[in-house]
Amino acid sequence: MTNSLTPMGKLLRQARYVASIHNLRELPPDAGVEVAIAGRSNAGKSSLINRLCDQKALARTSKTPGRTRQLVFFEMDPLRKLVDLPGYGYAKVSGDLKTHWQGLIQSYLDHRLALKGLVVVMDIRHPLKDSDRELINWAGMRGLPQHLVLTKADKLKHGQLTQTLAKVRAQVDDAVGVQAFSATTGLGLEQLTEAMAHWYEPDKDLIAG
Ligand code: GDP
Repeated sequence: MTNSLTPMGKLLRQARYVASIHNLRELPPDAGVEVAIAGRSNAGKSSLINRLCDQKALARTSKTPGRTRQLVFFEMDPLRKLVDLPGYGYAKVSGDLKTHWQGLIQSYLDHRLALKGLVVVMDIRHPLKDSDRELINWAGMRGLPQHLVLTKADKLKHGQLTQTLAKVRAQVDDAVGVQAFSATTGLGLEQLTEAMAHWYEPDKDLIAG
C-alpha cells in the first residue's frame, strides 16, 4: 500500500530532511504549518515517519546517542514541516515532561506558533503510559490538536485491536483522534494521511465543509 493517490500522500512523499536543531537560534522561521511527532523510545515513531512519507530511511530507525535533545525537521515545502521529537520514557527517574524535555524542546512546544498538531505514537500493546498521558494532558491544556496512533497493530489479533482502540478512545478527549496503524502492513496509513491533511491543508476543510 502506498500513499501516492491523495494530494496529501504525494506531498508527504516529498518530505526531505532539513536540519537537526540543538538550540533555539537554529530554529527555522516560525511560519507555515508544523506537525510534531512524539512517542516513547521504541514505540515505532521512525518506522511510522518512514511509512507515512513512503521513504525507507527518512527518519533513522536505529538509535543514535545524542538524539535525545534535538528536534529533527523535515519539510514537504517551505511552509509545511514535520518535526521529529526525541523519544521519551526511558529515563529511570520518573518525572514530568520537563524532566525529559528541558530547554529547547519544552520551549519549542510551549511557544511555537507554526505548531498546529501533535501526533503521539504508542505501541498498541502498551498504550497510554504515564509519559504519554503527561504529554497528552499538557497538549490538551495548551489547546494543541492531537492524533494518537497505536502502532504495531499487526502484532495484535483483530479482536484485541478493536478492544484496545475502544479503551484508549474512552480515556481521551473526544476531540483527540485515535487510530490503529502498522508500519509493517500499512494498516491505517490512509487515516493518518487524512489527519495530516486536516492540519496541513485546513483551507480544504473549509471549502469541503
Ligand atoms: P522509535 O524508537 O519510536 O523510532 O521506533 P522504531 O521505528 O525504531 O521501531 C522500534 C522497533 O519496532 C523496530 O524494531 C521496528 O522494526 C519495530 N516496529 C516499528 N513499527 C512496527 C510495526 O508497525 N509493526 C511491527 N511488527 N514492528 C514495528
